[in-house]
Amino acid sequence: MIRRHTDEVGVLAEIFSSFQGEGPLVGKRQVFVRTAGCNLSCSYCDSPRFRREAKFCEVLSPPASGPLRRADNPVTASWAMKEVLGLWGRGSHSVSITGGEPLCQPDFAAALASGCAAEGLPVYFETNGSSASRFRRLIPWIDFAAVDIKLQSHHSCPPDRWSRLFENEISCIDGASRAGVATIAKTVILDATTPEEIERLCHRLEGLEMTLVLQPASGRGKPGPEKLILLHQAASELLGDVVVIPQAHKMMGVL
Ligand code: SF4
Repeated sequence: MIRRHTDEVGVLAEIFSSFQGEGPLVGKRQVFVRTAGCNLSCSYCDSPRFRREAKFCEVLSPPASGPLRRADNPVTASWAMKEVLGLWGRGSHSVSITGGEPLCQPDFAAALASGCAAEGLPVYFETNGSSASRFRRLIPWIDFAAVDIKLQSHHSCPPDRWSRLFENEISCIDGASRAGVATIAKTVILDATTPEEIERLCHRLEGLEMTLVLQPASGRGKPGPEKLILLHQAASELLGDVVVIPQAHKMMGVL
């Protein structure tokens, strides 16, 4: 039975079942709910089509187990929950609410997260961290928070807005960590990323219970192994839990 908070409408790009391809939970089976639309423009963005509005939400069953289906946007959260429950099965670990940027549709994101929590499905919430106030509302329903940190060199927003973006991201990580949510802070490493940038970031994360993931860019600007070791060492001087993890779903050839 679908329970409360699920009548909001929103724009989704896709719902599918796959493996988590990033961070410490890599390889965990998840049902992904991907919202359409994003408020940033990162130089390394590998999913530009999800930054735009989407006409349809595609529902993709696991390979070879069923046809692709489409629903016109906007869709309701209760419809999305039915699809999530249809894809949920043995071995499922959690529901990944991702984007685009889910917090561009805050009421819809809250309806999805609370709907999953009401069904007893753990929520893995991915955000670019650009709105700490919107994120804070969702914390009671989140089990895992994966918050991106955009470095100045990522050119995610105009230069005069970067400090505000960065402070919001730190505030999201701080809020999730203090609330006891398993918190993952992720930053993409480019060949141009400097140890000074990473040190400045790590000073702000000191004392927080979280894992810092340094994720090498996979396309343009991909860093070499020496850069990864240098930046991991710089971060490890200040933080206890720092890992370098590439995007594994691309290696597996899954969504
Ligand atoms: S926040 Fe994510 S979806 Fe948005 S532009 Fe950056 S990488 Fe792309």
